[in-house]
Amino acid sequence: MEIVIVKDAGVCFGVRRALDMAEQAIEQSQLSATLGPLIHNPQVVEKLQQQGVRVVGQVTDMRPGETLMIRTHGCSPDVEQEAQERGVVILDATCPFVARAQREAQRLCNESWQVIILGEPQHPEARSIREHTGGAAIIVEGPEDLEEVKLQDKVAVVCQTTQRIDSLNVLVNALLPRVRLLIVSNTICGATTQRQEASLATARQVDVMIVIGGYHSANTARLAEICSEVNPRTHHIERAEELQRKWIAGAQRVGITAGASTPNSAIEAVDAALKQIAEEEQDA
Ligand code: SF4
Repeated sequence: MEIVIVKDAGVCFGVRRALDMAEQAIEQSQLSATLGPLIHNPQVVEKLQQQGVRVVGQVTDMRPGETLMIRTHGCSPDVEQEAQERGVVILDATCPFVARAQREAQRLCNESWQVIILGEPQHPEARSIREHTGGAAIIVEGPEDLEEVKLQDKVAVVCQTTQRIDSLNVLVNALLPRVRLLIVSNTICGATTQRQEASLATARQVDVMIVIGGYHSANTARLAEICSEVNPRTHHIERAEELQRKWIAGAQRVGITAGASTPNSAIEAVDAALKQIAEEEQDA
């Protein structure tokens, strides 16, 4: 059995940067907590907790003088002010691409555009982008969420960084006949698009596709969705122990891809587990 690992699968630039910042701060005993889990990977979060880094839900959970890390998804501008008032030090690991989406939404809102965010309403990144418009922007998952919305003359679209370009196209096409002026700020992250395209190409060429990443990871969920569309034998797992022998029965080629917050060790573990199953099948 041949195993094909998608190029660039796993940890992206933004997550690598956040992990490096956390590691450096821990070495200097300067990290007390993260605002929400640092990344959508339970193993990494567990390790941080063992190193004394708590996960908190709000600034008021912090004591004065402690350091709070903002994760790649970013946060509301209010957090910085609350932290300052409470004497909490902020270590900002917001991914620069997310920060760009926040700035774009803020700028367009200030320029009187009606801002629509293509994203998941409950996702912390989409919410952080919305909070940069003072709560004025609307988060939609697609045109169906806009049926009841009264659109203004000037509409601007900004994206959660992990969205699919296809979804952006669908939204733009639905908006065009309904508005006079439309601005599209494509804030989808290049690493996301690249990984999605490479995963799709691999999923088309293999018998079985394994997608590794946290079940709460939006970009991993997107990858699993994209791969499933062209390969019904696609399985999303968080760790190697979840692999099922029956999934790869009779497969000649198995593809592996992974979300942006999946460490290389998780990819290596799945690769090793697949090789072992293949060897055992050959010996049987
Ligand atoms: S997927 Fe893109 S936007 Fe998200 S953290 Fe990684 S580099 Fe940043």
